[in-house]
Amino acid sequence: MNQIDLTHFSLRQIAELLQSKKISSVELTQTFLARIKQYNPNINAYIALDEDKTLAQAQAADARIAAGNVTPLTGIPIAQKDIFCAKGWPTTCGSKMLAEFIAPYDAHVISQFDSAGAVNLGKTNMDEFAMGSSNETSYFGGVKNPWSYDRVPGGSSGGSAAAVAARLCAAATGTDTGGSIRQPASLCGLTGLKPTYGVVSRYGMIAFASSLDQAGPMAKSAEDCALMMNVMAGFDERDSTSLDRAKEDYCKDLHQPLRGLKIGLPKEFFAQGLDANVGKVIEAAISQYKKLGADIIEISLPNTGLSIPVYYVLAPAEASSNLSRYDGVRYGHRSAEYSDLMDMYCKSRAEGFGAEVKRRILIGTYVLSAGYYDAYYLKAQQIRRLIAQDFVEAFKQCDVIMGPAAPSTAFKAGEKVDDPVAMYLQDIYTISTNLAGLPGMSVPAGFAQSDDGKSLPVGLQIIGNYFDEARMLGVAHQYQQVTDWHKQAPNLDMPEGIA
Ligand code: GLN
Repeated sequence: MNQIDLTHFSLRQIAELLQSKKISSVELTQTFLARIKQYNPNINAYIALDEDKTLAQAQAADARIAAGNVTPLTGIPIAQKDIFCAKGWPTTCGSKMLAEFIAPYDAHVISQFDSAGAVNLGKTNMDEFAMGSSNETSYFGGVKNPWSYDRVPGGSSGGSAAAVAARLCAAATGTDTGGSIRQPASLCGLTGLKPTYGVVSRYGMIAFASSLDQAGPMAKSAEDCALMMNVMAGFDERDSTSLDRAKEDYCKDLHQPLRGLKIGLPKEFFAQGLDANVGKVIEAAISQYKKLGADIIEISLPNTGLSIPVYYVLAPAEASSNLSRYDGVRYGHRSAEYSDLMDMYCKSRAEGFGAEVKRRILIGTYVLSAGYYDAYYLKAQQIRRLIAQDFVEAFKQCDVIMGPAAPSTAFKAGEKVDDPVAMYLQDIYTISTNLAGLPGMSVPAGFAQSDDGKSLPVGLQIIGNYFDEARMLGVAHQYQQVTDWHKQAPNLDMPEGIA
């Protein structure tokens, strides 16, 4: 067996090899670990590795396979975004504040993968407290986009995206508050899904903006995402927003034909601000859907333009409250020198948080303050309602909504770090979905030429109605049966973008 090929296999193919005992989980895990050793020092996708722990899990998985006690993910190595608490693992959320923190318990997502017999390969790099679109706010340094090392992988789940794209794991987890699964999936050429709010438990997932945060899979294909969702989704009483719904099989609609599917194209998603080459790729993907028998309908989401301003009131407001727990007292960074309690709080937080996190805490505290609450926070909540209502109207006319996942391909490292507003615009097409609580995904749809002649991945966004993940995954899977964009992988030894 050619060990290199294994890293490109789908989850189903890997599961078949494991269950027919053609390979062991230990061998498979070692293959990924060797590849991580070779490429991670440059890419910086992983910020915590623990070979002993990982291989012990692989051994346990092999024992399960020998005993015939398997699930589709038993023995498969998965990368975990460093926002999930994993018992005995460093859990930093990309911050100096938590640089020394070892989680004493497992997040729900982690324990779900554990029970399925999956192997935790390591923790992936991310923007600090999931705030960012380029992974450049991480305390542990940026992540390189495997398609072109001078570019960012997107964020905040940049480490997971780069790990999947570079085949440094079989699949990974991410979280999406405003686009952090879909935008990096788009920039790195992978399939990523943000589920309906409340479908995946947030227990043990470090909070950024609790009314928006949602975990989801980042993988090579829609089918892989469906298999991951079967593990991740489900009711958990430890999260008060976890939805108590019957267990669902996310693979159930993968083979549904698309004839008669109504696809809505919001005109606001194709307006000014969209890179022309990205637009062409999206149009070609829509044509492919027409060939598959779908009907295209022009729709409008009139409040799309308000989604970024609304998000940058609400998300910082929630973040300023969530992050008040980092006070240097119980856990997290504590300043070495201070005079009294207040000085200890101030110095610990000043030293522990990076610039973007501080900016959000300041904005959040401001919009929640007595004099400004009504003018900013309350107003933003009202507009959030209108944005959600736009989707309710749209879904009266169509089954799914499509458009670009991000306005551009991967941009150069350093290009937007000094311009927060330009950075915030990366999520122009994703944020409204979070505000409405709807599921959204990004699917590889081709490559677009950058100004300097590089071919870089483009993601097609699919937005579904509440709880319509299975259908969305089917819509993506059917496209992936007639295209092979999702099978393309970068050449890590010459990452110039494919010619
Ligand atoms: N880029 C957005 C932000 O910086 C979204 C991040 C996210 O989804 N976690 O807040």
